[in-house]
Amino acid sequence: MKESFFKIISLIALIIPTKVLIRLSGKKIIYPFYHIVSDNPPPHIKHLYPVRNIKQFEKDLDFLEKHFSASGFPPKDKNNLFVLSFDDGLSEIYNTVAPILKKRKIPAIFFLNSAFVDNKNIFNNYVSSLKKENPDTDINEYLIKQKPYLTSRQISKLKTEGFTLGAHGVTHPLFSGIPEDEQIRQTEESIKFVTENFGETQKLFAFPFTDNGIKNSFFNNIFENKIADYTFGTAGIKDDVFERNIQRIPVEKYGLSAKRHIKTEYLLYIIKKISGKNFVNR
Ligand SMILES: [Zn+2]
Repeated sequence: MKESFFKIISLIALIIPTKVLIRLSGKKIIYPFYHIVSDNPPPHIKHLYPVRNIKQFEKDLDFLEKHFSASGFPPKDKNNLFVLSFDDGLSEIYNTVAPILKKRKIPAIFFLNSAFVDNKNIFNNYVSSLKKENPDTDINEYLIKQKPYLTSRQISKLKTEGFTLGAHGVTHPLFSGIPEDEQIRQTEESIKFVTENFGETQKLFAFPFTDNGIKNSFFNNIFENKIADYTFGTAGIKDDVFERNIQRIPVEKYGLSAKRHIKTEYLLYIIKKISGKNFVNR
């Protein structure tokens, strides 16, 4: 969807009360997700997407808690609920995000790339952002000095504190760009990493980037063979033909507040529902 179109719709969405949007859509459970929260966006991310500062994030949470109750996964009751998650396993999760969530007693899922934990390697896009910042950046030195990713110790601590862990692929590839057997390997290996090393009992997997272009055969394979319990996409508020593939809201995408972004997602869902286009089809 074009950013300009989304922003125009958002102006209409803002004048409709949130409870009206929830009622008209019938969608009581939402899944907003983020990457990091930082008052000082790190060089490996700042050239990629807008980052929430602490004040903006607290404001997002105020909006969410006003209209929804925070829920772990899977959600157990039928009230208006939000299930929060964070992708890419970055160190800000431990240093900034978790303390804010603990203070408010908000549960969350942290999705990790198994090859990057403990700063053993780095996501390609972060290298691009670093090179934009400074073409001479030594990546290995950056990994050692800056430690952009969570360490195993930090992840274990987060797990003991009650957070849920999920998998996000081994190396964060675009799934539609790799063969199906490699998609399965990335999914299975990263889920095993999370369950075997950190005692996570749920097998949760969030697609790197998007689940666009993923075939039915992939979903049939991983659900029938119990490789994953649930998978997560990034298409916003949408229904999916696979009930166990849950679409999440990429709140950071256009740099709008959670209030403005989520209300717009609701309005777009209602419009699509009327025109029968609210399903992700494959
Ligand atoms: Zn990611």
